[in-house]
Amino acid sequence: MAVPILDKNDISKLRSHIEQAQRIVITCHKSPDGDALGSSLALYSLFQAMGKLVNIITPDMPPRQLNDLPLISRITINSQNEVLAKAIVERADLIFCLDFNALYRIDRLGDTIDKATAVKVLIDHHMGPDIACDIMFSFPLMSSTCELVYYVIRDLGYKRLMNRTIAQCLYVGMMTDTGNFTFNSDYPEIYQVIAHLVSFNIDKEWLYNLAMNTFSADCLRLRGYAINEKMQIYEQQHAAVISLNKDELTRYNYHKGDTEGLVNKPLSIPGITMSIFVREDNDNIKISCRSRGDRSVEEICRLHFGGGGHLNAAGGEYYGPMDDALALIDKIIKELKY
Ligand code: 5GP
Ligand code: MN
Repeated sequence: MAVPILDKNDISKLRSHIEQAQRIVITCHKSPDGDALGSSLALYSLFQAMGKLVNIITPDMPPRQLNDLPLISRITINSQNEVLAKAIVERADLIFCLDFNALYRIDRLGDTIDKATAVKVLIDHHMGPDIACDIMFSFPLMSSTCELVYYVIRDLGYKRLMNRTIAQCLYVGMMTDTGNFTFNSDYPEIYQVIAHLVSFNIDKEWLYNLAMNTFSADCLRLRGYAINEKMQIYEQQHAAVISLNKDELTRYNYHKGDTEGLVNKPLSIPGITMSIFVREDNDNIKISCRSRGDRSVEEICRLHFGGGGHLNAAGGEYYGPMDDALALIDKIIKELKY
């Protein structure tokens, strides 16, 4: 994947919308990760530097480990303050939808955004965008929304407004969505972006520890338990499943974000090319999938779990008892052609 060519018309339309806008709203997907928050905070900082009234509204709380990201205290959380979030969205002239491809990915905030009369802009790298926006920058082959935001800023002619905070935030999303530059990062141009970000004297090691290497003792024990006691290997199908039910999560004092990245662990076993993680949440069962090569987990999540994502990283949800979800996954895996 080389650098995407952003449509010149869209860029110049976006530039004039930004110039005219006074109130800007930025939203990203639920359970926001480093890319969702990094891209949101970077644009927040940019628009602040331009003197705009700008708000970030997330559907729900960011995970604890990202609490130290710059400016994170400024966000409004829809699930905690829906009345305020609605009022902010209603008054906005311009809304940015970052790192999601469909309104159901932002929960109840989706309805608020759908009804808003503001000009809407999508910047995203998930497959199959299904959202009505006036301007769409959708590039599924990009490493991250953060990288895409960098090109949007560059093409808008706002590179001169970039600062250390913006560079740090963009770096976080590029780092987390590529597994610290392991996957989706094989094209040389991405490192030209990184070279520019690093020139702002960002603290790479601090950002890595903050976003990818901070775990509480309970969280580490939960992950150990999940791998030790709950990982099921399907030798024939080269697949693995880890599941955690509510009782198990409670036993380890589970907090949101504690199982982040756990789904990747089975892929470190030679020969395993697909991994599925199943977690019993309050209202539903969250499914997270990862694969290697051309095995598509996007298709599995789309067809069976009302979700989607990317070829090698996708997610979805199951509504029903945990045992039924696990039985369905068992069936799906056994029917896989490999
Ligand atoms: P994760 O497994 O880390 O939650 O998500 C992996 C990838 O799949 C991410 O790019 C994420 O945005 C996407 N994804 C996760 N859950 C869903 C879902 O319910 N629907 C869709 N469309 N994508 C999802
Ligand atoms: Mn992303």
